[in-house]
Amino acid sequence: MLALDKEERDLLWLRVVEAIERYQKNVDSYPVAPQYQLEDVRRTVEALDFNQPLSAIDAVDFAVAHLTDCQVHTPHAQYFGLFNPAPTTMGIAADALVAAFNPQLAAGSHSPFAVEVERHLVKSFGERFGYSRLRADGTFTSGGQEANATALIAALNHHFPQLRLKGLNSLAGQPVFYMSAEAHHSFLKAAICAGLGANAVRTIAVDDCFAMETGLLARQIKEDKERGLHPFMIVATAGSTSTGAIDPLSEILEIAERNHLWLHVDAAWGGACVLLPELKGLLESCRDADSITFDCHKWLSVPMAAGMFLTKHPDVLDRTFRVSTAYMPVDDEDDLMVDPFARSLQWSRRFTGLKVLLSLAVAGWQGYAQAIRHQVEVGSRLRAALAEAQWKTVNDTPLPVVCFTDDSRSDGSTSEYLERICAEVVASGQAWISTTKVGAAQTVLRACITNYRTGSLHIDKLIQALASARRRVGATAV
Ligand SMILES: *Cc1c(COP(=O)(O)O)cnc(C)c1O
Repeated sequence: MLALDKEERDLLWLRVVEAIERYQKNVDSYPVAPQYQLEDVRRTVEALDFNQPLSAIDAVDFAVAHLTDCQVHTPHAQYFGLFNPAPTTMGIAADALVAAFNPQLAAGSHSPFAVEVERHLVKSFGERFGYSRLRADGTFTSGGQEANATALIAALNHHFPQLRLKGLNSLAGQPVFYMSAEAHHSFLKAAICAGLGANAVRTIAVDDCFAMETGLLARQIKEDKERGLHPFMIVATAGSTSTGAIDPLSEILEIAERNHLWLHVDAAWGGACVLLPELKGLLESCRDADSITFDCHKWLSVPMAAGMFLTKHPDVLDRTFRVSTAYMPVDDEDDLMVDPFARSLQWSRRFTGLKVLLSLAVAGWQGYAQAIRHQVEVGSRLRAALAEAQWKTVNDTPLPVVCFTDDSRSDGSTSEYLERICAEVVASGQAWISTTKVGAAQTVLRACITNYRTGSLHIDKLIQALASARRRVGATAV
C-alpha cells in the first residue's frame, strides 16, 4: 500500500499537477484570508479515520480542498504580510524532485551532488555579500531562526574555546550579546536554547529611524565589562522585520572590532539588496562581518524552508559542530568531501539547496535583480498612494515595507482604531496587512510587498480596502 501501482500513480500525478496549476491560476481571485471557524477545521481533520483508508485521489482532494479554504493565501498578490512570498515555479518543481530522490544530506559520501550544489550556492551568496570565494563558508538551515541560532553557538564557541568540552560552568562570567530593540526575537529563543538565558540578550534602544543607537551600544558594552559580564557578539539587523530598518553597519563593525566581538548581520529578508547594484551599498559592511543570516524563502521567493548561515571563517562550523561516530560513513581521506551533519545543527536533512539552485539557474542573477527592483518600486508606489489618501508613513527605509497611521482623524494613531482598521481589511478578503508596534510601543499598520507579482492594480485594491475600512470604522466610532 505504500507504493501505488502505475495506473494509480498516473492519475495521482495528474491530479497533483492540476491542483498546483489551478492554485497558481486562481489564487488571486480567492479571499486573501478566508473566514473559517477553527472548530470546524478541527472537526473536519479529526473526522479522518485511519481505519478507513482513502483512495489516493480522495486523499489529495481532501488536502487540496482544505488548503484552499483554510489558510491565509500568502501567494496572493494582495498579501502584504510577513515576508511569505509566492513560491517560484522552479522551487515547487525542485521540492517535488527532492522528495522523490530523497538525498540524505547528512553524509557527503551519500549525496555528493547535493553537497556540492549547496557548497557552490553558499560560496556564491557569500561572494554577493562581499566575502572572498576562497574563504566564504556556511550551511543551509531551516530558516532565519536556525541560522541565527547557528551564529550564536558559533560565536560563543569561537570566543570561549573551552566551552565545547567544559560547558558554560567553565566560564568566569555570564556571556552577553547585543542587538537592537527591533531585532528579531529568534535570538531570544536561541539564547534560551543555548542555556545562556534571556538575560544574556542586551537590548539596545533605537533612533527615530528604528535603527540601533550605536552610542548606547558602546556605552552598554563598556558598562557590562566593568560589571564582569563577558560580551561576545553584536547582532546588527539589516532590514528589521517590523520596519525594514538597517542598523548603521559600519559604526557597529568598528565597535565590534574595537571590543573583539563577533559581528553577526541578520539580513534574513533585507539581504536580497546585495543583488541590486543601486542598493547593495547599504550592506557594504557585510563583507567584514563574521557571519550573516540570509533567508532564501523570503525575498528570493523559494518555497519554505530555506535559510542560510554564511561566514568568512571557513573553520568555525567544523570547530563548533564536529562530532564523529562509528555508524556514520567516513569522510574521504583527501579532505575534499564535507559531511553536513558535522558542521550544522541538523543531522538527517532534505536537500534544501535544490529549490534555490533551480530558481537561480533559471532566473539568473538578472532575473532576481529585476524582481527585487520591481518590488522596491511597488513599495515606493504604495508609500505615495498612502500619502495621497491621507495615511501617514512612519518608517523611513528604501525597502518595500511601509508602516503607517491614519492622518485624517485625531484618533488615527491610537492602537484601538488601527487594530479595527486592520481587522476590517483582513475580513474584507481584499488584502492582508498587519499591525505591529514600533519605537516606544506605538501601534502602526504594516504593509510589505512580499510578492513578485504585486503591482499597481493590487496597490489600488489595498488603498480601496483601507478606504472602506476607514468608512466602516468611522461610522461606528463614538
Ligand atoms: C524572518 C526573520 C527571521 C526568522 O527567520 P525564519 O526563517 O522565520 O526562521 C530572523 N530575522 C529576521 C530579520 C527576519 O526577518
